[in-house]
Amino acid sequence: MKHHVITLIPGDGIGPEITEATVKVVEATGVNIEWDTVNAGTQVYRKEGTVLPDRVIKSLKKNKVGIKGPITTPVGTGFRSVNVAMRKLLGLYACVRPCKSYQGVKSRYSNIDLVIIRENTEDLYAGIEFKKGEMETEELINFIKEKKDTRIRSDSGISIKPISVTGSENIIRFAFEYARKNNRKKVTAVHKANIMKYSDGLFLEVFKKVASKYDDIESEDRIIDNMCMQLVQKPELYDVLVLPNLYGDIVSDLAAGLVGGLGVAPGGNIGKDIALFESTHGSAPKYKGQNKVNPTAMMLSAVLMLRHIEEKNYADLLESAIAENIREGKYVTYDLKPHRDDPTAVGTSEFADAVVKKIKKAGS
Ligand code: NAD
Repeated sequence: MKHHVITLIPGDGIGPEITEATVKVVEATGVNIEWDTVNAGTQVYRKEGTVLPDRVIKSLKKNKVGIKGPITTPVGTGFRSVNVAMRKLLGLYACVRPCKSYQGVKSRYSNIDLVIIRENTEDLYAGIEFKKGEMETEELINFIKEKKDTRIRSDSGISIKPISVTGSENIIRFAFEYARKNNRKKVTAVHKANIMKYSDGLFLEVFKKVASKYDDIESEDRIIDNMCMQLVQKPELYDVLVLPNLYGDIVSDLAAGLVGGLGVAPGGNIGKDIALFESTHGSAPKYKGQNKVNPTAMMLSAVLMLRHIEEKNYADLLESAIAENIREGKYVTYDLKPHRDDPTAVGTSEFADAVVKKIKKAGS
């Protein structure tokens, strides 16, 4: 049996609770994993004065695969977001978020099976910003007026949107390779190239070039506003979507909403040789320590992780056990019950115990 060393980052807020639940169900499958536990986030900041100690990055660089709980975006620690910093430091350029319907999860739709692939390193998230009223902002406004004959109001703040051929090629090729490896039929590029000709237009140009090399996979493109409407009206027409960073962020949440919300939306941040899996939702600090929240999104992120390390049988076993527990609807958290104040709702750890029982039953 293959032995894997995986970096485990419990995070903060509800992170440690859903991490404990996830470790429990992964271990119940019998997969041979040794956890290298390192933490980041607010608790670490209180003790060490940094939210992201070097050992976290070192561990991920060494082990190549990790899974993490959510981390609260800190205020006043010099980090815009720990999550964004980690993705940048490790070159995790692709964010993969499958959105799949599970029977028993409340949703307006059934039979949804979409994969959102979001570029993770550039676009409006590059962090290049000019604050209203600062000298450099004024200089930029004057530069634009001179070069483009365009007036920007002097009381403006400005965020820059870089999109490169390299970044676009990386993510678009990743999307087609993902489609091929996972027996998907179609990749749809999402953009606003009709308005932003030199950024989104470039993304679309690269998409068409890369798509021409994958004639076994269908390709098409949609303008972002039209895409949002189509996803609400006929989501079944779509398969794999590839998007620049900002649209990817928004459409991931939209697609999570189609399948029942953030509680069931897993994800992975993937680079050339390192992958870090995590739920789409955040640290929900108001529920911290209450053994209340739904661990499904992190458990499904573990399923993606098991697939990534080529432990398909364990991944299938875990996914089926989670799906069966949700379908039965007995040992599930408040958000998966017909009413949020349902007294029969169980806590995070009892949900995990019920999944463990399903795994054991399937294995016996
Ligand atoms: P959130 O996802 O933490 O919570 C939004 C709401 O969704 C919560 O109030 C809760 O009702 C619900 N929710 C979230 N997860 C749930 C679960 N597992 N089970 C049941 N209900 C759940 O979003 P937020 O409040 O905007 O962010 C809180 C913090 O998390 C912020 O600091 C944010 O920056 C951070 N964040 C971190 C990550 C990450 O670590 N990757 C991602 C998103 C947000």
